[in-house]
Amino acid sequence: MHEVTLSAPEFGTWQFVAGQSVRLFVGNGLRTYSIWTLSESTLVLRGFSHADGPGSEWMASAAPGTRVALTSPKGVFVVDADAPWHLFVGDDTGAVPLLAMRSSLPSSASVHGIVVSRERMSPDLPWVSSGSLLDAVRSLDLPSTPGVAYVAGEQKACLEVRDHLRNSLGWPRRAVKVSAHWTPGKRGME
Ligand SMILES: Cc1cc2nc3c(=O)[nH]c(=O)nc-3n(C[C@H](O)[C@H](O)[C@H](O)COP(=O)(O)OP(=O)(O)OC[C@H]3O[C@@H](n4cnc5c(N)ncnc54)[C@H](O)[C@@H]3O)c2cc1C
Repeated sequence: MHEVTLSAPEFGTWQFVAGQSVRLFVGNGLRTYSIWTLSESTLVLRGFSHADGPGSEWMASAAPGTRVALTSPKGVFVVDADAPWHLFVGDDTGAVPLLAMRSSLPSSASVHGIVVSRERMSPDLPWVSSGSLLDAVRSLDLPSTPGVAYVAGEQKACLEVRDHLRNSLGWPRRAVKVSAHWTPGKRGME
C-alpha cells in the first residue's frame, strides 16, 4: 500500500464527505482512489499496488515533484447519518474509504465491522489477514436487527456479503451499500 500526498491550493475550496473519491488521469486512462484525508491544501490517497496497471504504477512511482491531473471529490458511498448502527466490511482497497467513514462518525455511534487485508491500516476496525469477506462477516457478533452496511473491495466478494445480509439475514435492499473497486480480469472500474 502506497500513501501519496498531493498538494494544491484548490483543495481548500473542495467540499468532501468521507467515503468519496477522486479520479486520477494516469497512463492513458482514469483510475479512481478514495480520499484518505483532505485538508486545506493537502489530499492523501492510499493506493494498493498489486500489478502493472497504470494506477498501481503511478502509486508506486509517485515522488516529490510528480504532477497529476484529477477530478474533485464525488460519490454516494458515504455514511447514513440516520443508521441505527453501522457495519463496515472491506478488503485492502475498501479499507481506505471505510476507515475514513468510520473516523467521521461521532464517538456515540454504534459500529461493527471487519477488514480483510494484508496489513492493518488502523486500529479503528477489527482486522484479519486472510479469508473471504463473507467468512469474516459471518464471524461477527452482530445486533439482531438491521443497521446500514458499507461493503467495499473486490466486486464478487462484496456481492457475496450483500447477498448474505439481504437474503440470509433479511436486511432491506437500501440498507446495504456496495462500492466495487476491482475484480479479476477487469481494468479499471469506472
Ligand atoms: C470508487 C472506487 C474507489 C477506489 N478506491 C481505491 C483506493 O482507495 N485504493 C486503491 O488501491 N484502489 C482503489 N480503487 C481501485 C482503483 O481505482 C484501481 O482500479 C486499482 O488501483 C487498479 O488500477 P490499476 O490501473 O493498477 O490496474 P487495472 O488496469 O485496473 O487492472 C489490472 C489488473 O489488476 C487486477 N487488479 C486490480 N486491482 C487489484 C487488487 N486490488 N488486487 C489484485 N488485483 C487487482 C485487475 O483485475 C486487472 O486484472 C477504487 C476504485 C473505485 C471504483
